[in-house]
Amino acid sequence: MDPVGIAAASESGPGPAWQSKCPWGAPNTTSMSCSLADVMSEQLAKELQLEEENAAFPEVVAVAEGPFITGENIDTSSDLMLAQMLQMEFDREYDAQLRREERKINGDSKVSISFENYRKVHPYDSDSSEDEVDWQDTRHDPYKADKPTTTPRKGFVGKGKDITTKHDEVVCGRKNTARMENFAPEFQVGDGIGMDLKLSNQVFNALKQHAYSEERRSARLHEKKEHSTAEKAVDPKTRLLLYKMVNAGMLETITGCISTGKESVVFHAYGGKSATEDKVIPPECAIKVFKTTLNEFKNRDKYIKDDYRFKDRFSKLNPRKIIRMWAEKEMHNLTRMQNAGIPCPQVVMLKKHILVMSFIGQDQVPAPKLKDVTLSSEDMKKAYYQILNMMQQLYKECNLVHADLSEYNMLWHDGKVWLIDVSQSVEPTHPHGLEFLFRDCRNVSQFFQKGGVAEALNERELFNAVSGLNITADNEVDFQAEIEALEKMNEDHVQNHGKKLSMFSSDGDPPIYDE
Ligand code: ADP
Ligand code: MN
Repeated sequence: MDPVGIAAASESGPGPAWQSKCPWGAPNTTSMSCSLADVMSEQLAKELQLEEENAAFPEVVAVAEGPFITGENIDTSSDLMLAQMLQMEFDREYDAQLRREERKINGDSKVSISFENYRKVHPYDSDSSEDEVDWQDTRHDPYKADKPTTTPRKGFVGKGKDITTKHDEVVCGRKNTARMENFAPEFQVGDGIGMDLKLSNQVFNALKQHAYSEERRSARLHEKKEHSTAEKAVDPKTRLLLYKMVNAGMLETITGCISTGKESVVFHAYGGKSATEDKVIPPECAIKVFKTTLNEFKNRDKYIKDDYRFKDRFSKLNPRKIIRMWAEKEMHNLTRMQNAGIPCPQVVMLKKHILVMSFIGQDQVPAPKLKDVTLSSEDMKKAYYQILNMMQQLYKECNLVHADLSEYNMLWHDGKVWLIDVSQSVEPTHPHGLEFLFRDCRNVSQFFQKGGVAEALNERELFNAVSGLNITADNEVDFQAEIEALEKMNEDHVQNHGKKLSMFSSDGDPPIYDE
C-alpha cells in the first residue's frame, strides 16, 4: 500500500488542495531527543553493523521502514511509549537478521533448518512490516527462562570439589538474570533472560533500583495526567502511527479521546502545519482509529462483502487489511458526500486504519448528537427537512445509503445537522441496500415523529421519497417483502447480465422535497 497514505488517490474530482500532496513531508533525519541519547549510540552501532551485513549479503533489502522517530517535540514524559516503539523497531531488525542467518546456514541445501520459532514478531504480522500488529500473541515464549535451580537450605549442593554454594558467582548470576522477570512488565530487560547471562549482584541491584524508580515515576505520571488513557486505547503500532503524524507536524497535539466504541476510537487533535503551503489542515481534527481487534468486525461482513466496489479485493485480503478497508470506505464515502455539499467531516488523510478528518465542534468539545440535544420545535422541523434533503442527496447524488442513520450519527452544529459515521454506507444496489435504507427511514421517522414534528413522513413515505420508488404496500410486512423482491430482482439481473442495474428507480429521479 502506498506508505504516504492514500488521501491523494481518493475519488476523482477536485478535492481540497491539502488532499493532493504527501502529508508526511520529507523524511527528517535530524537529531533525536535527549532521553534517547543512550540508545542512540547503540542504535548507531547497530546501524553500522547492519550496513556491513548488507554489504556482505547484498540481495537482502534493509527492513527498517522510513526515518526513525525524530523531531524536537518528543514527549519525554512518555519514555514507555518510546521504549515500546524502539522495541518494535528492534524486533523487526532482529527478525531480519535471523532471516539472513537462516539463509546463510541453509544455503542451497535441500534440507533446511528454520529459525521461525525464534522470531520476535508474530509470523502472521511479519509478512510485511506495513501490517498491523495485533499484540495478542499468546504462543509459548521462546525467550522465557527455565526455572532457575534452587540451592537447598543448607546453602550448598554437590560433593567434594564440585560443591557449589549459594554465593557461587555463576549460580548467583543466573539467578539474578532470571529475577529480572519480576521487574515491571514495561521495563525492557532485553533478551538476557533467555540466555546464559550471569548478572553480578552489583549490576543486578543497580538495575533493580532503576526499575523500581522507573515504576514509581510512571505511576506518578499516570496520576498527574490522564493522557495515558488516550495512549492505552490503542495498540503500539497505532500509537506509532499517531506519533508519526504529530512528529511530521501534521497534527499539533492529540488532546484526548472523544469516544470509544465497539469498532472505533475517536480522538481530538489540533491540526498542525502541512508540509507544503498549498495544503490546509483544519485547526481541529477528529482521528478515527478503526480497532484492529478482529472479532469486533465479524458481524459487519455483510456490509462490505457484498459491496461490489470491494468485492474483488475482499476475498484476497487478510482480516487486518479488511479493517483498513473500513477506514478507506469511510474516506471514500465522506468524499462523495463532501462533493455533494452534504454537511459532514472533511477528509484530511488516511493512514492504514486511521482516518483523520475535520472536527465537528469547537474547542475540543464535539458537537452534540441529535439524541442529546434539545431543539426548539422550529429547529426540530428545520433539522427534519434538512435530513430529508440529505437522505435524497445521499441516494441520488452520492449513490449511497447511510445504513446506520439515526440520532446517534447526526451531530447538531452551527444550526444544522451533520452526518457522520459512514464506514458502513453502501450503494443502493447493494444486495441489502434497500433494507438498510428502510431501516434508516424508520429511525428518522420515529425520531422526528416522537420529537413532535407533525410534518414528518412515516417510514414508508420517507422510503419512497428518498428512493423515488413507488412501493404501495400500506403495511410494514408487505412493504418489506416488496423491498426484498426488488433486491432479488437486482441480484438476478446481476446473475444474468453480469452487472448491476444502474439504479432501482423506475419512474425517474426522486422528487426533491423541501420546506
Ligand atoms: P462509531 O462507529 O464508534 O459510532 P463514529 O464515527 O460514530 O464511530 O464516532 C463516534 C463518536 O465520535 C461520534 O458519536 C461523535 O461523538 C464523535 N465523532 C466522530 N467523528 C467526529 C468528528 N468528525 N467531529 C466531532 N466528533 C466526532
Ligand atoms: Mn456512530
